[in-house]
Amino acid sequence: MRFRLGPWMSSSLLSVAIVAVLVMLFVAGRNDQGITHGPEDSSMVALTFDDGLNGADTENVAEILELYDSRGTFFAVGKSLRGDAELAERLVASGHLLANHSLTHTRANPNDVPYYELSRAQHEFAAVTHQCPAFYRPPYGVETGFTKSAVRRAGMTTVLWNVEVKDWSETDPARLAANVLTKVKPGAIVLLHDGTEGHPGIDRSVLLNALPAILEGLHARGLRAVRVDELLGMPGTLKRC
Ligand SMILES: [Zn+2]
Repeated sequence: MRFRLGPWMSSSLLSVAIVAVLVMLFVAGRNDQGITHGPEDSSMVALTFDDGLNGADTENVAEILELYDSRGTFFAVGKSLRGDAELAERLVASGHLLANHSLTHTRANPNDVPYYELSRAQHEFAAVTHQCPAFYRPPYGVETGFTKSAVRRAGMTTVLWNVEVKDWSETDPARLAANVLTKVKPGAIVLLHDGTEGHPGIDRSVLLNALPAILEGLHARGLRAVRVDELLGMPGTLKRC
């Protein structure tokens, strides 16, 4: 006689299997730690700019970096790319690095298992720049086991920071520059913002006016501002998204 599961039993088993997969996904991602800095004996640091692309402000950040023979990493919000497509292409063509800062800059929901914010943003980058970013930075630095699993499945690496100066609330460019230069060490990854996504109404002219002093101060200390991939010695883009 063949043993058959009743409908109640088979749906219970299915539920158990689903929960088991969710737990495995969550646990698998839980211990993946983001990178916060490069080698501490490095002569390089990375300036990173979040929450764009943001039109003229992003363009001005790029121009200032280039004036000082430096390049930046722009952790852009995926939904901004099509509206600033020319700027995205111009950044890539000028040697800056674009990286993934989610599709809509939403704080990760602890129950969001597939975390499509990551893959959908990747598709925006691929559509506009024909490149697939290798680096991801979570909005507000908020990660869950599921977001970490999504990053790992995509073959990407989470990049956080070890220098934060709250540039979104700073009103004095000289104080902002001094704050960065006080905190920065060899190998540092510095969190700055060219966009306003996380902080609407923010005055980006403070950062633009501080940036030359930051770059001059780094140079005086023998530190070069480079892209994250150069600092870490890792590829900045993937072969496919
Ligand atoms: Zn952000």
